[in-house]
Amino acid sequence: MKLICIGRNYTEHIKELENEKPTDPIIFLKPDTAILLKKQPFFIPEFSNDVHHEVEILVKINRVGKHIDRKFSHKYYAEIGLGIDFTARDVQSQAKAKGLPWEKAKAFDGSAVIGSWLPKETFKDVNGIQFSLEKNNTIVQKGNTSHMLWKIDEIIEYISKYFTLKIGDVIFTGTPAGVGKVIANDKLVGYIEDKQLFSITVK
Ligand code: ZN
Repeated sequence: MKLICIGRNYTEHIKELENEKPTDPIIFLKPDTAILLKKQPFFIPEFSNDVHHEVEILVKINRVGKHIDRKFSHKYYAEIGLGIDFTARDVQSQAKAKGLPWEKAKAFDGSAVIGSWLPKETFKDVNGIQFSLEKNNTIVQKGNTSHMLWKIDEIIEYISKYFTLKIGDVIFTGTPAGVGKVIANDKLVGYIEDKQLFSITVK
């Protein structure tokens, strides 16, 4: 399985990193080795001094698909989740400055937190899901999928032009504003509405 991530999908986050608004979705991949194993702490890698949390809504693909039209995208997922796209911001900034790929900053071991899953029927509208991240009991990121530049069904259409989607693939749909550095002993807890979907400790 693969993890497909969307970058710059929320205007307020684009502003905070002083990035340009993209004309097409930005896509990058993480390998399955990036998944943080259940109940394990997140270890800050030794090659970075500035690892950021990015809380994101996740979509789990449940059918094989290629060239999916957005009006059929809803048939390709049944569960919505929440996760973190951990990002070594210092490494990413160097890569960006040189126009190099982002994998060392984005796809390292443990960089993908995948929390529990909820059936999509839980939600009246997948384009109106509230989610948040608490760091040490304070809310640091808050988002609503209604603010995505590209909505879930458009993302599935776009990704599937390039990559065949397979059962079990997970899409990270981009982070809202409020990304920030993590340090040892931070506790990160993610919520969709009032449901807690993950809780992890940083080491
Ligand atoms: Zn991200």
